[in-house]
Amino acid sequence: MATGNINVSVENIFPLIKKFLYSDHEIFLRELISNATDATLKLKHLTAIGEAGGVEYGNPRIEVKIDKENKTLHVIDQGVGMTKEEVEKYINEVAFSGAEEFLEKYKDSAKDSGIIGHFGLGFYSAFMVANKVEILTKSYKDEPAAHWVCEGTTEFTLEDADKKEHGTEIILHINEDDKEFLEEARIRELLTKYNKFMPIPIKFGTREE
Ligand code: ADP
Ligand code: MG
Repeated sequence: MATGNINVSVENIFPLIKKFLYSDHEIFLRELISNATDATLKLKHLTAIGEAGGVEYGNPRIEVKIDKENKTLHVIDQGVGMTKEEVEKYINEVAFSGAEEFLEKYKDSAKDSGIIGHFGLGFYSAFMVANKVEILTKSYKDEPAAHWVCEGTTEFTLEDADKKEHGTEIILHINEDDKEFLEEARIRELLTKYNKFMPIPIKFGTREE
């Protein structure tokens, strides 16, 4: 298991994210679904050009699950996934430099949440509604799966995991204040709003949205 410190010069980035950048907590779901969609479309492209190392595209979908007992919300895709190195690079480093840039440039207009995704802050919007976020991910490449855990500070843990299928599961441990996002009706409402723009089918509960 590796432990480390996320590379960030804005020490208290998480409180800032919560206070200034996001007026609208619900956008976390759109960000996570858009990442899941991107990851799935990347795999589609790689299989189409014969670069997916024998992995087949099949009929992938994105699944959203609520676990009321454990107070978790899960967004699961069957896309390209990430290796441990990629988690280091794309989650621990890039996202925070994106956050800094974003903070500097757009502090004043942060209410316009439509621009958040463009600065690599998308994934971190999960911390608007969760005090702890886990990533369980397996690359389409022949490499071990990885498990990343962060509790909304600049510290994280990253270790090997034994997920077999390629793709990514994001697990949000939902805050007491945000428990509306553990309600089926609330999630369904959001999915109905977003799915118009989404090319990959989304499964929620027993239905395909
Ligand atoms: P952006 O989507 O704008 O690049 P994000 O903060 O949303 O910024 O995500 C950062 C990066 O983390 C993505 O570019 C991608 O490389 C990686 N990532 C996030 N979610 C996933 C996922 N579900 N599957 C694979 N990679 C992901
Ligand atoms: Mg994104």
